[in-house]
Amino acid sequence: MVNKSNYEYLLSDLTTLKGVGIKTTNLLKKKKINNLFDLLWKLPKSYTDRSLSSKIKDLKIGENQTITIVPQKYSFPRIRNLPNKVSCSDETGDIDCIFFNSYEGYVRKILPLNQEITVSGKIGFFKNKYQLTNPKYISEDASLIKQKHNTYSLTEGISEKIYNKIINQIIDKLPLLKEWHSNNVLNKFGNINWNEAIIELHKSENVGNYKDNFYQRLAFDEIFSTFLVNSEIRKKIRKIKKKAKIFSSEKQKSIIKKLAFSLTNDQKKTLDEINNDLISTNKMFRLLQGDVGSGKTIVSLIAAYNTVNSGFQVALMAPTEILARQHFNFAKNLFSKNINIELISGKSDNKTKKNILDKLSNNKIDIIFGTHAIFQKKVNFNNLGLIIIDEQHKFGVNQRKRLSDKGGDNCDVLLMTATPIPRTLTMTMYGDMDLSIISEKPKSRKPIKTYSKLENKIDDVIKFIKKEMKLGNQIFWVCPLIEESKKLDHSSAVKKFEYLNKLFPGQVSLLHGKTDTTDKENILNNFLKNEFKILVSTTIIEVGIDFPNANVIIIENANKFGLSQLHQLRGRVGRGDKESTCILMFKSNLSENARKRINILKESNDGFYISEEDMKIRGFGDILGFKQSGIKNFKLADPIHNNDLFLLAEKEMRRIELANEDISKFKPLIKLYDRADIINDIA
Ligand code: ADP
Ligand code: MG
Repeated sequence: MVNKSNYEYLLSDLTTLKGVGIKTTNLLKKKKINNLFDLLWKLPKSYTDRSLSSKIKDLKIGENQTITIVPQKYSFPRIRNLPNKVSCSDETGDIDCIFFNSYEGYVRKILPLNQEITVSGKIGFFKNKYQLTNPKYISEDASLIKQKHNTYSLTEGISEKIYNKIINQIIDKLPLLKEWHSNNVLNKFGNINWNEAIIELHKSENVGNYKDNFYQRLAFDEIFSTFLVNSEIRKKIRKIKKKAKIFSSEKQKSIIKKLAFSLTNDQKKTLDEINNDLISTNKMFRLLQGDVGSGKTIVSLIAAYNTVNSGFQVALMAPTEILARQHFNFAKNLFSKNINIELISGKSDNKTKKNILDKLSNNKIDIIFGTHAIFQKKVNFNNLGLIIIDEQHKFGVNQRKRLSDKGGDNCDVLLMTATPIPRTLTMTMYGDMDLSIISEKPKSRKPIKTYSKLENKIDDVIKFIKKEMKLGNQIFWVCPLIEESKKLDHSSAVKKFEYLNKLFPGQVSLLHGKTDTTDKENILNNFLKNEFKILVSTTIIEVGIDFPNANVIIIENANKFGLSQLHQLRGRVGRGDKESTCILMFKSNLSENARKRINILKESNDGFYISEEDMKIRGFGDILGFKQSGIKNFKLADPIHNNDLFLLAEKEMRRIELANEDISKFKPLIKLYDRADIINDIA
């Protein structure tokens, strides 16, 4: 017997339910429904109202209706494919109930002759007579039929009736959970408790009542459990004691002096935040967030420099080798010769690699640059004090935690990302980290002029790039991504390359999904060295790489991309001091809505603003990179519409943190919603 006051009952296997066997369980598992709790989020989409009954003469064809009738006569044709038929009537007329693929015994059982029975279904009309085909709702007890029946988006093999049945079973037996929220929070939701809220959630007439207390409370539970788990991870990491780093601000100044520019206020502010973490005795676990081109690299390199000056090693990891190399070169130029800097490259021969590994373990390298290869097992650091990870928005909470553990207690962790997302999502995705934000861009940066052009006006575009090339500038030409086919992708890029190469012989190169890694690095390096003028590519141009001499980007079939994605693409240019241009090309005239969207992009260069507007239009699921980002899929909560709930959750979490409140009362919440192990350490 299950203890009903226990939340664990909700985590039990689906087979606990009556009428659920292996077959249904397997079908549900395919839909990621593994236990009773998961089933609670299978919500009615709408309902069919079968509560009102009608007389046969008043039936409306094509509608779902309920009638009470008396079966009069069977017809069981012995010819294959002909349906079984039961002629029925009430005092006002006749109707046929038709059964395809049915057994005689079954039909006799559910519609016995001369007995009143209630049936419900969609009314048809055939050869001058009403008919009901394969009616599913049939009962002698009219009250069982005359209800509102929930409709669900169906899983193959599981009918609406089964869903109704099994979900009702769970709701009938909901355990009585002790309230986990404070009175203050609960008050905001009309003091509705979790059980009541679940019951309301499943009432068909409540479908779509997102503003009601029951819905808001349950959405809040979801958000809050995520924040709570994040907060616990953050607290745990912060508690780790480390050796404080000690460095001189004079040395830092000497580096800043060498720069060709002065740091923006936000760069200074975020650098201070990072430095404060470095000199503290608590381990840093920090995210540096800033739009493309906001100048995150230099901030992280100065932090690296400070770390080296306090006697530690630093590892900087980038998603691609070419980006790692660019950071490496920048550091080489900036730092004095007595700082040892190396790059682990996939291209180096084994001897060179072994040499680097030896030097790393003997503390003869101060800063190492590379891709994820840096964190392979065979790489041993002597005295690692800081890990910097660039452009790794695809890392989820668990990966980050593992990385932080791998560096050891003395190792601080700094992540950098340019994925501009609204604050509510930052809290959700990166709530386990402390946050530093660069919102202003360098003043010298000129906004990227953004235009739209119809594809048949390509001659104008060619004229424009000719002029730019004469000035010595370089051009990105992004070809449409054709999702259905990598082959087509490839051929459209090849065609464009051939077309442009005819116009500008020897000045064009091509990069696409099939280009192998070495060729790709070579092409990008040659583009960096200005050895050719136009780079035709599909969207695979790497993020983060600086091409200061490229100031024009043409994006074909621009309506294939989301605004945030277009903004990121456009961020590949405009990093130098030149005027830069982005031309969005379209196959046909824009619709009113599309024009509105594109105007957001033309009028703003602020990635945060653009992503927020984009979300309002498209919902958050579709935005750049979120699908792979490991962001939790909320079942009810919506980062756009429930902004107030996210803010409330943040406030409540901070209150609990400040008061150092015991969080063991949240155990059921965390166990049910996040399945997080973190709670085992606390409660
Ligand atoms: P991101 O934040 O996208 O990683 P980067 O760090 O690559 O941006 O910086 C983009 C370019 O801006 C680089 O060429 C960098 O040297 C330059 N830069 C960085 N900070 C400033 C600044 N304060 N003023 C002018 N240019 C800067
Ligand atoms: Mg960068």
